Amino acid sequence: MERWASVPPGRAAVVGPWGTMTYAQLRRRARDLAWGIAEARPGPGPVLVYGHQEEGVVPALCACWSLGRPYVPVDVSCPPLRAVEIARRAGAGAALLAAEAPAELASGLAAAGAVVVAGAAPAGRGRLPGAGRPGAGDGAQPAYVMFTSGSTGQPKGVPVPRSAVRHFAAWIGEVAAGRDPGAPPVPGPAAAPADVVLCQAPFSFDLSVMSLCLALGRGGTLFLVGRREVADPPALFSALRSSGLTVWVSTPSFARFCLAEPSFAEPMLPRLRRFLFCGEALPAATARRLLERFPRAEVWNTYGPTEATVAVTAVRLTPALLAGGDPLPVGRPAPGVRVWVAPEPGDAAADPLPEGEPGEIVIAGPQLAGPYLAPAASGGFVRLPAAAGGERAYRSGDAGVVRAGLLYCLGRLDRQVKLHGYRLELEEIEHHLRRLPGVGDAAALLVSRRGIPDHLVALVSPEAPATAAAQGDPSPAWRAELARHLPSYALPRLIRVVEPRDWPLTANGKVDRAALERML
Ligand code: AMP
Repeated sequence: MERWASVPPGRAAVVGPWGTMTYAQLRRRARDLAWGIAEARPGPGPVLVYGHQEEGVVPALCACWSLGRPYVPVDVSCPPLRAVEIARRAGAGAALLAAEAPAELASGLAAAGAVVVAGAAPAGRGRLPGAGRPGAGDGAQPAYVMFTSGSTGQPKGVPVPRSAVRHFAAWIGEVAAGRDPGAPPVPGPAAAPADVVLCQAPFSFDLSVMSLCLALGRGGTLFLVGRREVADPPALFSALRSSGLTVWVSTPSFARFCLAEPSFAEPMLPRLRRFLFCGEALPAATARRLLERFPRAEVWNTYGPTEATVAVTAVRLTPALLAGGDPLPVGRPAPGVRVWVAPEPGDAAADPLPEGEPGEIVIAGPQLAGPYLAPAASGGFVRLPAAAGGERAYRSGDAGVVRAGLLYCLGRLDRQVKLHGYRLELEEIEHHLRRLPGVGDAAALLVSRRGIPDHLVALVSPEAPATAAAQGDPSPAWRAELARHLPSYALPRLIRVVEPRDWPLTANGKVDRAALERML
């Protein structure tokens, strides 16, 4: 954004189902919104941005960044109660609503003390107010605060410093240009200013930051694909056909969805040079099929948690690596970032394990975010002892191993799961299931098809035997209550009642999840 002045104002900045927004239009809209925020709620505090991929979302994010204030993205899949809780925890004093908001959200925000900013500033206001000039502020200030699923039942807020985003942006720019991520980043103007970059992730998922950095950070075009297009494949593929995409950024799940369409191949996207994946395991079969359909493109796997700013490792998948099958490697660390495998159960300070020995993936260095906003527990953030450098590190909870210099992610050490790219703590879903009227115990299970996570199922045991039968089927009411607290992607497809006498327990008296899975 600091380089916007050198981008031709007529160049497309954002393309969405609603049309095209040029850099000049984006700049004007962002400036108007920035003025609106600064007047309604001066100061450095965070700003909640509500929406999906509407015309107003990207100007809202840019308005926050140009003011040097963190944005707190809330997708439309988030129920109002949860959105208000997020605003409260982040301390957002202002909100920009890019999508039509439910009445409960507007009233909840007002009750939480957040002013809803209408936007447009009086005409003729040029420079941004006060600290809002580009480049102002210090790198420790958060660029955004993202909320991820929390095992205690409440979402965890991760503030991500601007310096971390800058580091990530410089490195991922090199990856997108096809350069070796092991080499130091080259500062300066973008090498490929006319990239058209896919943005499939909602802005509340940090994969969207990869698209934002590669497109708007480099004078390119951000190409938005939202829920509505995904629900209407003919519209999706017709949009892709006219997109001119050069860089694909998505979850592997979305690419797999596209591969079901036979015409999803090079003639549909003739300019496409690179696929960049992150957020969940990339199956070797998906990568192989992409390379068959797009013989001139490269496929890159990248890995990282929100707590370490989008991604920290990357690798280009060569035929030799693909021949190794699943799991594919996630690559080498970004320059300056330290990623190592520590012995389980997570002594981050211990000497890194030698190649070939599995343990827990630990991350330290300039892309580290956090700590979590109170009152979340410290979670995976730790401080290494003075002898080990004394710096902060993040224990990822991912099992990993290094082989031939490349990191492999082997799955989770806890009950966090990824469903269609969304990060979920099964404990958070269980927390809300247990609070449903008449429910005694509950378990949330992830059901996979052909090894790929497909949907969630909840099993609940009623408080008293046969309560469920006496009151008719309670699951519609339960579903409605769950939907008040959990985003739509975290809702179980099915809630099955298991009578207390059939509720399986282990010898230690804990819920026997393996037995529940067999029951399914
Ligand atoms: P999020 O914070 O939503 O980006 O989720 C981070 C988690 O997603 C990581 O801790 C991993 O469990 C998983 N993940 C991210 N990238 C990959 C990848 N390339 N392969 C396997 N798992 C991944």
